[in-house]
Amino acid sequence: MGDLFGTNGVRGRINREITVDVVLRLSKAIGTVLGPGKIAISRDAREGGEMFLDAVISGLLSTGCSVIDIGPGPIPGLQFTVPRLGVDGGVMVTASHNPPEFSGIKVIGADGIEISRAKEEEIEAAYFNEEFTVAEWNEIKSVSREDDAIRYYVDAIKSHVNVDAIEKANLKVIVDGANSVGSLVTPLLLRELGCHVVSLNSQLDGNFPGRDPEPIPKNLSSLSHAVKATKANLGVAHDGDADRATFVDEDGTILWGDQSFAIVAKRVLSKHDGATLVTPVSSGRLIEDVAKEAGAQIEWTRVGSIIVSHRLKDLGAELGGEENGGIFYPPHQPVRDGAMTAAQIIEIMATEGKSLSELADELPTYHSSKTKVPVPEEKKDSILGELLEMTEGMARITLDGVKLQFEDGWILMRPSGTEPLWRCFAESKTRERAEELSARGVELIRTAIERS
Ligand code: MG
Repeated sequence: MGDLFGTNGVRGRINREITVDVVLRLSKAIGTVLGPGKIAISRDAREGGEMFLDAVISGLLSTGCSVIDIGPGPIPGLQFTVPRLGVDGGVMVTASHNPPEFSGIKVIGADGIEISRAKEEEIEAAYFNEEFTVAEWNEIKSVSREDDAIRYYVDAIKSHVNVDAIEKANLKVIVDGANSVGSLVTPLLLRELGCHVVSLNSQLDGNFPGRDPEPIPKNLSSLSHAVKATKANLGVAHDGDADRATFVDEDGTILWGDQSFAIVAKRVLSKHDGATLVTPVSSGRLIEDVAKEAGAQIEWTRVGSIIVSHRLKDLGAELGGEENGGIFYPPHQPVRDGAMTAAQIIEIMATEGKSLSELADELPTYHSSKTKVPVPEEKKDSILGELLEMTEGMARITLDGVKLQFEDGWILMRPSGTEPLWRCFAESKTRERAEELSARGVELIRTAIERS
């Protein structure tokens, strides 16, 4: 039996791997596993969104589920809506930050979190064995609409920040919505918080004419220029389904995801004694420094936002985050939420009276180095055992690949989920040392290949 689900849902090229037939069967499987019950649905701005959403509706209805269509919106908006309405789950048509020819499906459980791997396996089994619940003719339910989903979601975010302080700060913000559904929420939210908002790439367009939907520095040059040219206080950029936010300071400098994560973590963790921060092993020393300073402990996880969400919920932890700028704030909801993150960064600027560059400059700086090492497919799994043996007795975390911890840095070696290679990340205070550590990681991987 194959795997249908990747790290974040099912994805593929529109009308190639992801066809109406695949989505219909998948939705029958989802209705079979999550139902019988009510399922809320939404989509991002990608091409084929209506086509796939109709297949989702048909599949779910055929199993006897009823469907609540909340309209296009960010995935965190759907995730907030599912528990608010007390429905049994959610289905989102999205491919997040993938290129325009991709689409996909994310499945949300009744708690608003993307379903666990165990539930995905149940859905995969129903899908591949074609074991679907088939409703009797007189048990087939209907589709209703919920038009206020974004309203409730925006109000919830506002309830978690100091609205007066933000209003008084009178900040000018450029919001780059990536021509997708972040544009439906963040400009509205920030205006209601009293910011002066200029929208960039705000028309919904599945061709993504403004930029590639992944909010990484190489795609954000227009935003960076716009912030400088209009003398704005900051820029905010989302990915295609707006669960992530990347920030640009007043000088047009793009912050790394771990910097915005650290800025938020520093404040949230210091408000609680003995707080817990949940983060994947791929996060760096910066977040460890911030957690230590705030007297918080770190709960490391395997890489993947769904894993972080479930651990946050299980532990009742105060905050979660990823080095790509995904931040999870459980008092709002234990999932990545780009609009919530934007409100938090702006609140920190407002209450501390500091510019974003000042907030970033307060953080320690680290240098990182990333290398890929090709590994023969047949050895991709077996070299882990060798690496574990070779690093026996060293300070290390072995949740996901091998992370070696040194006084002045770290090396993380882990297999790629999709390609015949291992990735080696290293980080330290100086570039030279980061590269030295990275070279050491590459050497370890090569030796492990020889030995296995
Ligand atoms: Mg996303």
